[in-house]
Amino acid sequence: MTARFSFAIHATDGRARTGTIAMKRGEIRTPAFMPVGTAATVKAMKPGDVRASGADIILGNTYHLMLRPGAERVNRLGGLHGFMGWDRPILTDSGGYQVMSLAELTKRSEDGVAFKSHLDGTRHLLSPERSIEIQRLLGSNIVMAFDELVPTTSTREVQASAMERSMRWAKRSRDAFDAGGQHAEDNAIFGIQQGALDEGLRKSSADALIDIGFDGYAIGGLAVGEGQEAMFGCLDFAPGQLPLEKPRYLMGVGKPTDIVGAVERGVDMFDCVLPTRSGRTGQAFTRNGPINIRNARFAEDQGPLDPACGCPVCATWSRAYLHHLVRAGEILGAMLMTEHNIWFYQQMMADLRAAIAEGRLTAFADDFRARYAAGQ
Ligand SMILES: [Zn+2]
Repeated sequence: MTARFSFAIHATDGRARTGTIAMKRGEIRTPAFMPVGTAATVKAMKPGDVRASGADIILGNTYHLMLRPGAERVNRLGGLHGFMGWDRPILTDSGGYQVMSLAELTKRSEDGVAFKSHLDGTRHLLSPERSIEIQRLLGSNIVMAFDELVPTTSTREVQASAMERSMRWAKRSRDAFDAGGQHAEDNAIFGIQQGALDEGLRKSSADALIDIGFDGYAIGGLAVGEGQEAMFGCLDFAPGQLPLEKPRYLMGVGKPTDIVGAVERGVDMFDCVLPTRSGRTGQAFTRNGPINIRNARFAEDQGPLDPACGCPVCATWSRAYLHHLVRAGEILGAMLMTEHNIWFYQQMMADLRAAIAEGRLTAFADDFRARYAAGQ
C-alpha cells in the first residue's frame, strides 16, 4: 500500500532535481505543473482532458470555494474529487493570499483575517484553524498552512513582522492538521516560507518551518510584481535554505521562462493561472514564444498553433480556425486554446524532467530560452 506521502529524488543536475511524490491518489512527477482549478473546475476543460495533457495534480482555491458553493456543501457532495470528477491528487491553497487580495474590508489580527465576501458582502473569518478545517472538508490531499502576506515593497520591519506572524500561524496550522479530521490518512501539509526578497528573513522563516516540520515546503510571496531578475535573485538562496529531501513548491509561478529558471534553481512544483487565463483571451504559448491568435496575420494561416506540439488541438485545427473562433467569441475557441496551453506547460515539464534525468538541463534550458525569445 502506498504510504500517505513520500518524495523520492531520481536524479539531480546542478541544483535541479527530478523525482516522484507518491500519495494514495496517485503519483506526481516532479518538476510538476499544477493547473489551477479555482472554482472546482480548470476553466474550459473537462477533468479527463486535463489528465490527458499529463497533469498529475491540480490546485483548488480555498477562498473561492468557501464562499461558493461553501466547504460544508462540497463535503456533503463527496468532497472536491467526487464533486468535480477528478480522482487524482488535489492541492488547495490556504486562502491567505486571496483573502488579502480579493476580499473587502479585511481586518487582520493575531487570530486571523476577518473579511466581507466580494460576492455577497457576507462576513467571514479565515484563521489557521478554519483554513485547515475548510481544506479538509474539501478533501484536499496537499493542505497549505495559512499565512500572512504583505507587499514586497513594504519596509523590512513590516516584512519581518508579517513573516514572524506567518510562522506562528504555521505552527497553529500544523497543530490543527495534527488534530485529525476527515481524510487524515490521505493528506499532507506544506509550510510556506516568507520573508520577501531578504535572505536573512527567508533563513529565519525556513528554520522556523523546519523546526515545526512539514511534508513539503512552499516558497511564498514571490511573483507579485518584483520582476524575473529579482525573483531569480531570491531563488538563488531560498530553495537551498529548505530541506534537500522534501519537495519545494514555488507558488503562483509563472511564465514558461520563469519555470525553466526556477527548476534550474531547485524548485519542484508550480501552479499558475497563466495557461488557462491566457487561453481564454486568445494567447497561445508556443516553443517560439507566445502568439495572440486574434492577430490578422493568422486569418488564413493553415498551420497548427505550434508545429512541435503533440496536443489534440494542434493535431486537428489550424491557426486560421482558432483565429475565427476567438474573434467570433465562440466558447470552443476558449476551450481549444486552453487545452493547447495546458499541454504546452505539461510538455515543457516532461522535457525538463527528461533533461534533468539525462544530465543536459543547461543545454535544454539555454535552447528553450533562445527559441522562446526569438519568436517574441
Ligand atoms: Zn498544441
